[in-house]
Amino acid sequence: MSESIKYNLDESQIPKFWYNLVADLPTPPPPVLHPGTHQPVGPADLEPLFPMSLIMQEVSTEREVEIPEPVREIYRQWRVTPLYRARRLEKALDTPARIYYKYEGVSPAGSHKPNTAVAQAFYNKQAGVKRIATETGAGQWGSSLAFAGAVFGIEIEVFMVRVSYNQKPYRRAMMETYGARCVPSPSRETLSGRAILDQNPDHPGSLGIAISEAVEVAAQRDDTKYALGSVLNHVLLHQTVIGQESIAQMEVADDYPDIVVGCTGGGSNFAGIAFPFIGAQLRGGKNVRVIAVEPAACPSLTRGRYAYDFGDTAHLTPLTMMHTLGSTFTPPGFHAGGLRYHGMAPLVSHLRQLGLIEARAYHQTKCFEAGVAFARAEGIIPAPEANHAVRGAIDEAIRCREEGVSRSILLNLCGHGHLDMQAYADYAAGRLVDQEYDESELAMALSGLPTV
Ligand SMILES: *Cc1c(COP(=O)(O)O)cnc(C)c1O
Repeated sequence: MSESIKYNLDESQIPKFWYNLVADLPTPPPPVLHPGTHQPVGPADLEPLFPMSLIMQEVSTEREVEIPEPVREIYRQWRVTPLYRARRLEKALDTPARIYYKYEGVSPAGSHKPNTAVAQAFYNKQAGVKRIATETGAGQWGSSLAFAGAVFGIEIEVFMVRVSYNQKPYRRAMMETYGARCVPSPSRETLSGRAILDQNPDHPGSLGIAISEAVEVAAQRDDTKYALGSVLNHVLLHQTVIGQESIAQMEVADDYPDIVVGCTGGGSNFAGIAFPFIGAQLRGGKNVRVIAVEPAACPSLTRGRYAYDFGDTAHLTPLTMMHTLGSTFTPPGFHAGGLRYHGMAPLVSHLRQLGLIEARAYHQTKCFEAGVAFARAEGIIPAPEANHAVRGAIDEAIRCREEGVSRSILLNLCGHGHLDMQAYADYAAGRLVDQEYDESELAMALSGLPTV
């Protein structure tokens, strides 16, 4: 095993293909259904929202999808991202475990999201699209797409969940710096936004509502498409550069992970690091334990129902089979804004049903405790979302200590927390509380699931 702490590859080793897990699955995931007819959707149904090239990726069963050269050219700015051995953290934990982390915080927007934002902007540009409408929660996706829009010369319009718009002025400033337009959601610019504001003028907004607004804008205008930063198959596909690079870097380290850990909001960074390892296992390679970590206040994988549901609140999106808390579920406030979605990527949900991944949920103070320990040992301050993966990895490392075994643990450090320092300040001041979601609200949201 190597003594290094950093496992570099040069830019010629940026993957040339995205990896499509569907090609290696023992059974395909259930079909996506039309919201009106409940029949499987065809590519044409999605055409108002996405360029055909992305729709074909959404339904692709090919194992490898070529990464266009102009996209690799942009990737070269920050890819290959570093993979580190967390030797000082291992020492601090007094664990025999070998902890590795793949660091996606080196991208311009500070997270994994530009991996798909750049690809989506490229295909939209190629299709002649002038404008992309999207939603954002905490602002990470909005700022990533705004960056990609600036690169390819596409106007970006972002519906940002109102509470975050008010609480996170720096993310909004980032989007505007890149040239995007940022609108607090619910807004008066759409039918779905006005319907909600008419009932409650002070509505704090939710990701589900912001998606409805962006989809509505995209469906109405010929020159405008829609983009989603997680959940969909093509988004997960674009993120697989993370895991493919990790496999090559672990080889340089002369090691292979026994355990792979990622945090899950919609499932894209988790898929990015995990799918290439799961695929290798399905093709006869080494077994890996793959752990998805989610917030206890929005626990779709551990507490949600596996059922067909809408992706948005106004029920404009197709129905997908996924672990869901119900599209009307509103989680209590917590700091990992990127993990507040009611559903989970259909592919990640399918893996859970197949028993190929594990899932666990943690409250936020336990996650911030882990994030602070990580920062003090490794120097990098993780995004609040990434703290969930750090918590999961640290708990596995502690188990190694207790059992006296050395295992290799790989976690995805999906972003840095430099624009989330208020959350760390609140944690330090003892102001973070672990809120439980409302059981009766969950029951109500689940009872409203569509009958298919
Ligand atoms: C958006 C985001 C997430 C959650 O989205 P996934 O699709 O589950 O990856 C997690 N971490 C960071 C840093 C994010 O920006």
